[in-house]
Order: sequence, then C-alpha cells, then structure tokens
Amino acid sequence: MLLSGKEPSQSLKDSVREKSKLFEQKFSRKPCLAVVFAGNNPASAVYVRNKKKACEECQIDHLDINLEEDISREELIGKVEELNRDEKVDGILVQLPLPKHLNETEIISCIAPEKDVDGFTNYNLGCLLSEEKGLVSCTPKGILYILDYYGIETSGKNICVMGRSRIVGKPIAALLTQKSRNATVTLCHSKTENAEFYLKNADIVICAIGKAHAVTEEMVKEDAVVIDVGINRVPDASKKSGYALQGDFCYSREDGGKLSVTPVPGGVGLMTVASLMENTLISACRRMGIEVEEL
Ligand code: NAP
Repeated sequence: MLLSGKEPSQSLKDSVREKSKLFEQKFSRKPCLAVVFAGNNPASAVYVRNKKKACEECQIDHLDINLEEDISREELIGKVEELNRDEKVDGILVQLPLPKHLNETEIISCIAPEKDVDGFTNYNLGCLLSEEKGLVSCTPKGILYILDYYGIETSGKNICVMGRSRIVGKPIAALLTQKSRNATVTLCHSKTENAEFYLKNADIVICAIGKAHAVTEEMVKEDAVVIDVGINRVPDASKKSGYALQGDFCYSREDGGKLSVTPVPGGVGLMTVASLMENTLISACRRMGIEVEEL
C-alpha cells in the first residue's frame, strides 16, 4: 500500500485554512509567516516557492526576505532580530542550508522561540524532550500526522529510525518514545554496526539518511511500514530538469505490495509544508494569548 501524503496534507491545510479565517475574524489580521532565504540554492528555491503557495492556500500572509549569498553573519542576525521584534510576524523560518560561511546553529538560535515555527531552537527541542508545550519541528510532526491518518499504531511497536539529524532523526525518535506514542525506538546512524539487524526487527522504519535507495525492501520485514523522508536528486536525462527525485528507500512494486510505504515525491515532503502552516497558526494564536482550539 502507498501512504500518499496528498490526502493527509490537504486535510491538514483545509483545517488550517478554516481556522485562519476564524483567526482573522477575531483579530482583524491574518497569521503571518516570514521566510528568510539567503543565496540561491535551487532546491531551497523550490521549497520556498512551495511554502509560499501553501500560505496562500491556508490564508496565511507571507513575508519573503530574500538575501544575497554573501550576506554577513551580523546582517543576517540583525534581520532575524528585526523579525523577532516585528509585531505582525508570527513565524520565522530560516531556509536551510545557509551559505557555507554562516553557522546555522548560531543563526537558528537567534530566532525567538515563540516564532520558531520550524521547532529547531534549543528551547523547542527541550520542550519536545520534556514533553512540554512548544513548537514541534515540521517533518517529525508531519510523520506523526501521516501515521495517525492511516491508522498506524505505534504503541508497543519496534521502530528503527535511520539518521540522527537534529531536524528529523533525533526529534522523531524522541516523539515516538513519548508516553503518548509508546514505541521502542532504535536510532541508527552511519557508525551503527549491524543496522541490518535493527531494520529486520522493525515494524516501522523511518529513513532519513539522504542517500538515494540506500535501504532496500530486502532489508526490512515483508509487511513493514516505511516512512521515507529522504529527498535525493539523481541524474535523469528523461526529465526536463535533468534530474529525478528519489527517496532513501527502494522497493520494487509500484503500489508497495505487502509493505506500506510513503512515496517520494508526494509523501512526507507534503506533510512538512502542511505542518509548517499549522505551526504558524499555533504560533499566531499563542502570541494573541489563546490556543488554536479556542478560536
Ligand atoms: P543529515 O543531516 O544529512 O544527516 C543524515 C543522517 O543519516 C546522519 O545522522 C548520518 O549519520 C545518517 N546516515 C548516513 N548514512 C547512513 C547509513 N548508511 N545508515 C544509517 N545512517 C546513515 O539528514 P537530514 O537533514 O535529516 O536529511 C535526511 C534526508 O531527508 C535528506 O535527503 C533530506 O533532503 C531529507 N529531508 C526531507 C524532508 C521532507 O520534508 N521530506 C525534510 C528534511 C530532510 P552520522 O550522524 O553518523 O553522519
């Protein structure tokens, strides 16, 4: 079975749009997301465009901050601080990766936690670990949404997360081990010995390593659920762009066969953008002193 991201992401965006309308009626303004994009990385440009389109769909205002590739550390921090102070901005997203001369951790740490809609600051990661109210990073949040949408139980299940990045692997592992999810999680990385063992024992596999087709169907249980986070550009002369997008997971049957698999493209990526919209709404409501449920 294919676990498409189309229907769940649409359902989430529809819900955000309806609530954004209520927000506007109540506060006479729309929620507002500022997207800071330094440089001209082509993959990032596509992501920024998709976010802008989603904002339009969800009745969320967007502020595009396009900066030169060679922007200095001081100027970029100054820009983020200006957005922190800007009353009409509810969410700030700094598009990664940043140009090489900039330290991403330092720049992200300058975002006010209540506007950190990507959930990447130490404050929001800390909230996640301590199971307190904060902003949960968009890709892990989108993964949970897709699991719930398709009725996939996590309680008591063995889950193997491949990849320990700060934006996907670590937060999804932490979320799945929370008391509300009760999974037993193994977090693998490039130095894991015998990853095949953990993969074969997992009911659910989450691939977030960034290597095209590095995990294959022979490595997992025949009826495993596989959430493929990877988005890899591989050369493809048949495409106008010259490349195709591939996930980290390789399976032979187009419909997944006995496996339940998220496709790439059309899977987790769509959920990430929809979750960003939801986080912007959450942040807008909290800044006005209410929770989304109180709209
Ligand atoms: P990242 O920062 O590139 O880190 C990759 C992780 O994978 C590292 O922890 C690395 O281990 C581990 N790794 C590499 N090879 C491995 C192997 N053979 N076995 C097990 N672990 C291995 O990762 P990321 O930023 O999370 O991105 C991962 C992929 O997801 C990329 O393709 C990215 O484009 C995609 N992505 C998609 C979305 C979405 O919305 N769908 C969002 C974010 C990212 P070490 O720590 O030991 O180096």
